[in-house]
Amino acid sequence: MRFDIVTIFPGFFESVFAQGIVRRAQTSGLVEIRLHDLRDFTHDRHRTVDDRPFGGGEGMVLKPEPLAEALASLGVGPKAGNKAASHPSEQATPASTNRSLGTPAGSEGAKEPEGDEGANAGPSTSIASAISAQDDSRVGGTRVILLSAQGRVFTQAVARELAALERVVLVCGRYEGVDERVNELYCDMELSIGDYVLSGGEPAAAVVVDATMRLIPGVLGNEASGEFESFGAADAEIDVDVEGVPRSQHGAGGLLDYPHYTRPAEFGGLAAPQVLLNGDHAVIRRWRREQQLKKTLKNRPELLERTALSAEDRRMLEALQEQGIGNRD
Ligand code: SAH
Repeated sequence: MRFDIVTIFPGFFESVFAQGIVRRAQTSGLVEIRLHDLRDFTHDRHRTVDDRPFGGGEGMVLKPEPLAEALASLGVGPKAGNKAASHPSEQATPASTNRSLGTPAGSEGAKEPEGDEGANAGPSTSIASAISAQDDSRVGGTRVILLSAQGRVFTQAVARELAALERVVLVCGRYEGVDERVNELYCDMELSIGDYVLSGGEPAAAVVVDATMRLIPGVLGNEASGEFESFGAADAEIDVDVEGVPRSQHGAGGLLDYPHYTRPAEFGGLAAPQVLLNGDHAVIRRWRREQQLKKTLKNRPELLERTALSAEDRRMLEALQEQGIGNRD
């Protein structure tokens, strides 16, 4: 899978992508990350990428021409219906063929929401539907994403859908943001990494690349671990044991992960839970499931509404609630 990042600070990513799994994914050839300096697409002496906002107000805005040119160099032209705005340099770019693979938008691994979308995600939250709502002519394996505090919230479900694509182009805003016409003409979707305002799209792009690339088959050493952690498998995929108890370590469902412990058995006056040391896997499984329920009830109770719960889960939840867990102060 390939990521193209358009940014005025390519240096931001140097150390971010040079460590750990994301570095390994690149050296093994599973992931390719290309950085594109927006200033390379300016033509004035000062390499100007910003300008004052129409209508007045604070700050500066990333001007559209360098962004359009940067995207054209990646084979990204205006979406269908916006042809009139086609940038001249785009015609010279042979790579534009990667947008016309003849697959209808939404038929390439895009799925319906799996129940673990953010609470503010609406009913039609799959990328496929978001894209087709905006422009159903977008085809092929490339999606152009504008990082924006005004975007849909990036969740594990969105990461899963992106991981099925061939290429994701990430446009990083700065200052007050990007001229809205860039969004309208070129971007398939706006993504926000959370309800706070960053000073630039770069940290958000790094988050999107990290969370997405680790879901590409082969990237994680242990294939299982991507599916079986917080926000992991779809509800329907929860694995149950013979008694119908979901196997905590084999399917987190919409729950948060259980706590992990390693040696030493005692640290800072706290002992690791005895149950983990006795080797009884059925008991461990049950304990872990209870811990998942406890953590979710305490920190993210809204996730419980979208999680498949067994009768045993409900009993455990009731017991936890009786202990006062989940009561907000
Ligand atoms: N005026 C904008 C904020 C601009 S911040 C607003 O109030 O919404 C500058 C840039 O940082 C944005 O263009 C965007 O690319 C990035 N950014 C800021 N917050 C973000 C978030 N929560 N998620 C993704 N990108 C964000």
